[in-house]
Amino acid sequence: MSQTNIFSDPVFLQNGNLEKLSNLGIKKYYQKKSILKHLYQREVLSNPEICKLTNMSSPSINKLLNELITEGLVREEGVGHSIGGRRPNLFGINPEARFVVGIKIGMKSTEIAIFDLKNQVINNIQTLNRPLENNPQCVDDINNFMRTIIQNSGIDYSKVLSIGIGLPGLTNPNLGTSYSYFNYSEKSTREIFEEIFGKPVFLDNDARVMALGESAFGLAQGRNNVLCLYIGSGIGMGMILNGKLYKGNSGFAGEFGHIQIVDDGLLCFCGKRGCLETVASGVALEQMARTEIENGKTTKITAIVGDKLSDITTKIIVECAMQGDQLSIDLLAKISEYLGKGLATLIHIFNPEAIILGGKVSKAGNFIIDPIQQTLNKYTIYKIKNDCQIMTSILGDKSAVMGAMTLVMDNIFEDIPVASMQG
Ligand SMILES: [Zn+2]
Repeated sequence: MSQTNIFSDPVFLQNGNLEKLSNLGIKKYYQKKSILKHLYQREVLSNPEICKLTNMSSPSINKLLNELITEGLVREEGVGHSIGGRRPNLFGINPEARFVVGIKIGMKSTEIAIFDLKNQVINNIQTLNRPLENNPQCVDDINNFMRTIIQNSGIDYSKVLSIGIGLPGLTNPNLGTSYSYFNYSEKSTREIFEEIFGKPVFLDNDARVMALGESAFGLAQGRNNVLCLYIGSGIGMGMILNGKLYKGNSGFAGEFGHIQIVDDGLLCFCGKRGCLETVASGVALEQMARTEIENGKTTKITAIVGDKLSDITTKIIVECAMQGDQLSIDLLAKISEYLGKGLATLIHIFNPEAIILGGKVSKAGNFIIDPIQQTLNKYTIYKIKNDCQIMTSILGDKSAVMGAMTLVMDNIFEDIPVASMQG
């Protein structure tokens, strides 16, 4: 964890700044944070409900709630149902007290969303069409784009609490380091972004961030063993095992895209041959379409891109499949077969209750689910397979930015010690 004291927020985030406070001050900081955590998670609560959740006394809660209201962080939300006696006053977090930014950096573009404290996106997700490059200019461009969005939304930058980032490649979230991008200086990837953003930053691999989004807001909600497969330009996977995001020993767990699926196959950018990513990713799908068209296949795709085969995108192929284009349907079935083969192995190992497919390819819905199912029927023990549902994400494009926001909130509320609550 970086100890960047200048980024402290008086109530949400002290980032190692606690030594400046008295013992009583530290206790109060955690008590207030605990109240905010429960209000954030449950939306509205009464004083007795907060007592139950935090183990604090009613007068203490009352006093702290009044302080939080004065500070603008909590607001009264009317009255609740009576359980005998007077109807209790309800309290909720003030959604506009702070904002969190979720950023998903992709190979071709970067998506940014601002969230209020009720997890609502302010002014839609915005896309910066700029390829990912491992240099300071790329960081500058992302920063400028983000600052403009925040300014255009009429939000004071001082109210931005923290920024979460999901990015491709090998990432160690504990060290805040990417081994694939933004590793051009002595500083960690997180330090590079914190310096330019002037805010605390939390980052993780894009597929794991997506899995966080799925478990907080999507189909993985309330499920304990879920594999979230992210099929964009590359292939990544976030694993929720026993209810927790699994990171592996060094934070590299889930590199599903680089298991070998074709003997002596195409060269992958990772340096190995025949990786799943070389035959089943968005990039692979686009390349297959180009090759088929060059070989004379007729398809609706050419009606859209003409001679410019470099303009073929996963989105176009998925849309053509939806319109019944045979080549697009066949290509999606082909990559699904490879995906299914890989997934068959994972199902045998992890016995998941669900596999959630996200990323651009997942928009193809049944055009990928059906062929994946067929492949699983072929390669998986029936009983294990039957326990596992294959679904496409309902969060769609939002899952990664929502996950980046979840990453921030999880980290912010993570440090509250249970013992400091009494009183
Ligand atoms: Zn590879």
